[in-house]
Amino acid sequence: MERARITIFDTTLRDGEQSPGCSMNLEEKLRMARQLDRLGVDVIEAGFPIASEGDYEAVRAIAEEVRRPVVAALARTTREDIARAWQAVEAAARPRIHVFLATSDIHLHFKLKITREQCLRQAVEAVRFARTLCADVEFSTEDGTRTELEFLSAVAEATAAAGASTVNIPDTVGYTAPREMAKIVEAVAGRVRRSAPQAVISTHCHNDLGLAVANSIAAVEAGARQVECTINGIGERAGNASLEEFVMALRVRPDIMPFHVDIRSGELYPSSRLLSEITRVQVQPNKAIVGRNAFAHEAGIHQDGVIKNPLTYEIMTPESVGVPESKLVLGKHSGRHALGLRCAELGYGFERRDLDRIYKRFVALADQIKTVEDRHLVAIIREEFPAAAIPAIKTAAGAAMRAEA
Ligand code: MN
Repeated sequence: MERARITIFDTTLRDGEQSPGCSMNLEEKLRMARQLDRLGVDVIEAGFPIASEGDYEAVRAIAEEVRRPVVAALARTTREDIARAWQAVEAAARPRIHVFLATSDIHLHFKLKITREQCLRQAVEAVRFARTLCADVEFSTEDGTRTELEFLSAVAEATAAAGASTVNIPDTVGYTAPREMAKIVEAVAGRVRRSAPQAVISTHCHNDLGLAVANSIAAVEAGARQVECTINGIGERAGNASLEEFVMALRVRPDIMPFHVDIRSGELYPSSRLLSEITRVQVQPNKAIVGRNAFAHEAGIHQDGVIKNPLTYEIMTPESVGVPESKLVLGKHSGRHALGLRCAELGYGFERRDLDRIYKRFVALADQIKTVEDRHLVAIIREEFPAAAIPAIKTAAGAAMRAEA
């Protein structure tokens, strides 16, 4: 099966940073950008340089240091915005100017107070000007999914003809649904192909209805070849499409989704953790892929299955997304105290006498295998104390596994 390559455009440092409580300073943005580079994203949208001096400086610093990915800067359609964006990214190995203009009637009428004709002209002029500065220009039709399809297609076709190598269709307010998204992308892609067959169609979905990843997948199935997303799904309001969810959906189901992304999935969890550490905004425990409970198994029957073979209830391993398996570092010479502590960390508090029983089994096992992993220890505990009220065990760091009482 031939696999179309999808460009991963990460906007954690731009749209993500716009979410409440997620602003980052220059040093923090640089740390995050280095991690995004390790993760393997194709494009880092580093910021919106006209918005503030700090944003400008951060984009510039990232453009100077992070050399592999494309570094993009956002701009409205004014010359001042575009020139400032260019100043910020011109030092990049692969700079991109990302120009946006709303195209929906509601935005044109109430926000911009311009006509469709003015909108089309402004968009084309902005792309032309950006192209005089930078070879790689992306144009976004803000609120694209609420734009009348014929007009949306006309703007996409005209901006691609004017030199935009990527035309992005954002679901700015998280309003669309997968089938509708597919229809929009198909129509726009068909029109863009006429004027600029090499132009890439992109999508940028918000999660107001919890559909950002589903809509991104629908877009890709309909011909989009770039997906804009963020680590932990952060972004305006309910956030953007979550990078880790989109990537792992493709990885886990290659049988039905013939697409390829150059992401090192083992860096997903470290990226999520770094972002949480920097912003001090934790992900919800049940967040797919990177949440504390993403690999947790609550029911005893599930737990039993997972201990026998993780494939019974796990569609991917914690290790595949970079969640390190928590290993018992105790060897056969370790004492009861260390073992007791580890049991306590796993959620089992044992009396001395009960701990002795675990300890005997542990030492026997440690004789046979070098490292006793948590799941082995859990298996011992469950055999020795099948009826015990067991509060919580872990199969992987950060992934609590609860047992039935
Ligand atoms: Mn957005």
